[in-house]
Amino acid sequence: MELTVNTSKRYTIRIERGALDRIGAECASLFPPGTKAVIVTDTHVAPLYLERVSTSMRNAGFDVTSCAFPAGEPSKRLSTIEGIYGHMAQAHITRSDFVVALGGGVTGDMAGFAAASYLRGIPFVQVPTTLLSQVDSSVGGKTGVDLPQGKNLVGAFWQPSFVLIDPDTLKTLPPHFFADGMGEVIKYGCIKSRALFDLLAHTEDLEPIMDDVIYRCVDIKRNVVEHDEFDTGERALLNFGHTFGHALEKLNHYEGLSHGAAVGIGMVMMARLGEKAGWTAAGTADTIATILKKYHLPVHSDFPLSHIVDATASDKKSIGSSINLVLLEEIGQSFVQKVPRSELAPLAEGCNE
Ligand code: NAD
Repeated sequence: MELTVNTSKRYTIRIERGALDRIGAECASLFPPGTKAVIVTDTHVAPLYLERVSTSMRNAGFDVTSCAFPAGEPSKRLSTIEGIYGHMAQAHITRSDFVVALGGGVTGDMAGFAAASYLRGIPFVQVPTTLLSQVDSSVGGKTGVDLPQGKNLVGAFWQPSFVLIDPDTLKTLPPHFFADGMGEVIKYGCIKSRALFDLLAHTEDLEPIMDDVIYRCVDIKRNVVEHDEFDTGERALLNFGHTFGHALEKLNHYEGLSHGAAVGIGMVMMARLGEKAGWTAAGTADTIATILKKYHLPVHSDFPLSHIVDATASDKKSIGSSINLVLLEEIGQSFVQKVPRSELAPLAEGCNE
């Protein structure tokens, strides 16, 4: 399966089981033989897939080196980027060479940012290996790192040259990370596709249809990103569930509650808020809660509502004294509603019960 993304840079996304062994051949249609390729990965993914990817790249005639950073979000920082720059400098990487991001969203965001900034920008290829990175972070060109003051505060828009998704890599993904990605998959159904939502709700075993599920999610993200590459409008819809979700992650000090789980709770809360205000069809929040439970995601947080609302204060969707809420009319139909910040607490009353 293949999609083309028409952003400032046009690129292909290929979804194919076992495609990891074909990454060299795929890159050979983009870069000439002898080009240097730096594979950036992490310490969990390297023992699983680095050898296969390196071999495929070498067999295709590329001059391959690799660097692996310690797996996990705490590595997503500028000091790790400096390490990647150091590796690139030692390998004499030039602007005609390229980076391969092999791993989850942390790897993709960092390898992408290193590529965006080294020599003021060199090409990069995404090979995402978590569900979250396959359906979300590898597409759309947002790259960056965290600061001690907050997540994703430094970064660049830098589109990849190619995205290769091998759904077979999900077989080694720990269940906790799979469930985390399902939070985003369910989100796509909520905001843009009743058909995807129903498929997820009615299927007993996702494994045989995983390629199709990934395709549908990526197609939704592709479409949104094509309309709003630099995140000034429609792209906000992708943040459904994130207003309260980010607040919950913050209250949990980014430990214990995963991003997908937090977004899931945030989606239920926002649907309840919408139902109460008359914006969202009655029963939507319960329908979302049912599907989240099916995919082993929580639907409720014990934090007092006032704490959750307070923790939205630094939300990126805040504009002066207002906040943009992403709401559903019904499953598959979403819209943005600007409300005064002062109205958020009364609107949200009762939505975490
Ligand atoms: P991650 O990259 O840390 O991967 C999660 C864990 O799974 C890591 O321990 C990793 O080593 C391991 N792993 C990866 N692939 C594996 C595999 N196939 N088998 C076994 N283990 C594997 O985290 P993530 O959940 O993929 O991504 C989260 C990051 O993505 C966050 O930093 C978030 O900010 C970012 N993000 C970016 C965007 C974007 O548009 N750029 C969108 C959403 C999220």
